[in-house]
Amino acid sequence: MSGRTRACGCPERTCVGCRKRSARDGLLRVVVIGGRCVPDLRGTLPGRGAYVHPAPACLELAVRRRAFPRALKVQGPLDTGELRQAVGQAAP
Ligand SMILES: [Zn+2]
Repeated sequence: MSGRTRACGCPERTCVGCRKRSARDGLLRVVVIGGRCVPDLRGTLPGRGAYVHPAPACLELAVRRRAFPRALKVQGPLDTGELRQAVGQAAP
């Protein structure tokens, strides 16, 4: 068993909510613009990004842990209204 090398080309990121690692494709990138957490739905927004599963539970955890200000290196609190909307829509 040699599972040490990961030749898979898919980059992994850690969800700031549940702290589990996932393929970047399965996570929502979040950036801060003017004190608001903005979902980077197209992956095109500049700046530092945090990653969270597009699930209300993960977003809730991230907010409660103040994970976004920490991950994004900004002073909180941050408005997560847009993020909640995005996650609400993405969740089944
Ligand atoms: Zn998560």
